[in-house]
Amino acid sequence: MIVVTRVGTPEAEINRISEEFRSWGLTPEKIVGRYKVVIGLVGDTADLNPERMEEISPWIESVVRVEQPFKRASREFRHGEASEVWVNTPNGKVPFGENHPIVTVAGPCSVEDETSIVQTALRVKAAGAKFLRGGAYKPRTSPYSFQGHGESALDLLAEARRASGLGIITEVMDSEDIEKVAQVADVLQVGARNMQNFSLLKKIGAQSKPILLKRGMSATIEEWLMAAEYILSAGNNQIILCERGIRTFDRKYTRNMLDLAAVPVLRSLTHLPIMVDPSHGTGWSSYVPAMSKAAVAAGTDALMVEVHPNPSKALSDGPQSLTLEGFEQLMQELAVLGKTFNRWEEETPVTA
Ligand code: PEP
Ligand code: MN
Repeated sequence: MIVVTRVGTPEAEINRISEEFRSWGLTPEKIVGRYKVVIGLVGDTADLNPERMEEISPWIESVVRVEQPFKRASREFRHGEASEVWVNTPNGKVPFGENHPIVTVAGPCSVEDETSIVQTALRVKAAGAKFLRGGAYKPRTSPYSFQGHGESALDLLAEARRASGLGIITEVMDSEDIEKVAQVADVLQVGARNMQNFSLLKKIGAQSKPILLKRGMSATIEEWLMAAEYILSAGNNQIILCERGIRTFDRKYTRNMLDLAAVPVLRSLTHLPIMVDPSHGTGWSSYVPAMSKAAVAAGTDALMVEVHPNPSKALSDGPQSLTLEGFEQLMQELAVLGKTFNRWEEETPVTA
């Protein structure tokens, strides 16, 4: 349930209302919106009468029931306002959200060696990316495939972060590694295969770094939002959702089916920022530019694109990785589209 307070409600009254509901066995969560303060209530609210609840204070404007099973993740929980995720990077804070420019994340599937990760970081940054992606711990279908370089790859990501100033996004597969990964990463990625690893979600939700939650390959939108709810209920509300394609009957020509309808659907259901990954979504680099543009047109807040200096030699996901030049070209095309939607960062004029 959410309690909408009137504009100008004194802070002390908000606290008093919250404490009253706490004494009813509910968990109040104060959400400061642009105009109003909303108190989200989580707990057993089934038997409560919203009209009676409004009588608690003349400062309460309305009490509304959130019908969806995902409470904190729902758009209503913030009274219709989008949330923003601000990520600290060496180059400053980067905001994700529907009222901000589209954020681009680029880099190889796996971190391979120092030269290639630093080179990739510098080039994608020059093209306009704000984050470098790259896996240190890789979730591979076969135990005989390259599993990622692990801890030593984290050191290489730290090196690329220093050299480029880009933020780092990398996957955590095991809750034992959270602390180690969080020392290097600015955003922790939960991969598709772990979207419903509830113990990982609880643990990652208990730390403070922002989280990128990828959609499970066979997850419904509701299951995905319930996974986000696990993280939110563990205390972390810095979550970005990433659509990365789902399984369908036809996998002959694409690896997954990129569900772009998920973008407007999520927009209506949740306040959380949205990212699209057309690389895993299609499986082929030649389809990535078209689907990146389609994602921008669909209203995504961010894009994640796999980029490799030499895709034919990549240790994982080469076929879906753009070359550095391919990524530069794509960013130029995206800028045209992004500007027409008023979602592209103004270029900072280069001063001599
Ligand atoms: C990845 O981002 O490299 C990855 C493994 O993605 P997903 O979890 O979406 O398959
Ligand atoms: Mn990959």
